[in-house]
Amino acid sequence: MILDGKALAARVRAELKTSVARLTAQGVKPTLAVILVGDDPASQVYVRNKIAACGDVGIESRAFRFPADCAPAEVFAAIDALNADPTVHGILVQLPLPPQFDETEVIERIALAKDVDGFHAENLGRLWQGRHCFAPCTPAGVMRLLAEATVDLVGAEAVIVGRSNIVGKPMAALLLQAGATVTIAHSRTRDLAAVTRRADVLVVAVGRPGLVTGAMIKPGAVVIDVGINRLDDGRLVGDVDFASAEPVAKAITPVPGGVGPMTIAMLLANTVTAAERQLQSQDAS
Ligand code: NAD
Repeated sequence: MILDGKALAARVRAELKTSVARLTAQGVKPTLAVILVGDDPASQVYVRNKIAACGDVGIESRAFRFPADCAPAEVFAAIDALNADPTVHGILVQLPLPPQFDETEVIERIALAKDVDGFHAENLGRLWQGRHCFAPCTPAGVMRLLAEATVDLVGAEAVIVGRSNIVGKPMAALLLQAGATVTIAHSRTRDLAAVTRRADVLVVAVGRPGLVTGAMIKPGAVVIDVGINRLDDGRLVGDVDFASAEPVAKAITPVPGGVGPMTIAMLLANTVTAAERQLQSQDAS
């Protein structure tokens, strides 16, 4: 079975459109601020796609662009102003940032209630405690895909390949919370195939085309390919060798059209949630 992230993301977006219309009618127009520093071509594309997705569901987006050589203080001042602006519900800083920036410092400048990417250290800490503000978008998108495919996670062996702060680690926290027995494999794992072959649910987030082949997958496993790799011939592929993995897996996400569209859908969902929380706090005061 192919887990069609594009189709699911379209359904999520249709639901969000209704929520956005309701909030707007109540006087709260969900709004996302996007900060882009420099002219990295991939980042430009990501930001363009995020802004277009916002427009599609009726979320207002405001882009703030800074030159690659700008002083961090300028970006901090912009974040401070957005934190204080009640008409802005979500703030996103597109990564990577130029070398004069400490990315952690920048992300932590964002108010927790507006950290719709879920990258703030406090968000990640809270995620492990099961009381997060916002789940990071890519792992949240994976959880939606697994829920849609009615994958039973309770007691399942889940293996995540990759231990980044934005994908691998929060993915582990969410799967653990859902009742799975979680293993995180990474660049120093001794026998990767032996670990991946244990997985009922295998999530691969590394950035190496073809790292996981069909021979490394337990028959009947659910395989989620987070990787996005551009080959020399221009093709976009994941970290899993789809041709050999698909016949072995019970269900598998394609690249493109799997996790990628879900990541953007979850960013929109987090922005709507941020706006809903603001409306609730207004009503309560
Ligand atoms: P990262 O570079 O921060 O982390 C990669 C991880 O892979 C590291 O933890 C490292 O230990 C591990 N690794 C490296 N070589 C390995 C090996 N040989 N065996 C096992 N593990 C190994 O990357 P990231 O930001 O987590 O992103 C991972 C991939 O996911 C990239 O291709 C990225 O483009 C993609 N990505 C996709 C989405 C999406 O929406 N689909 C979102 C974020 C990232």
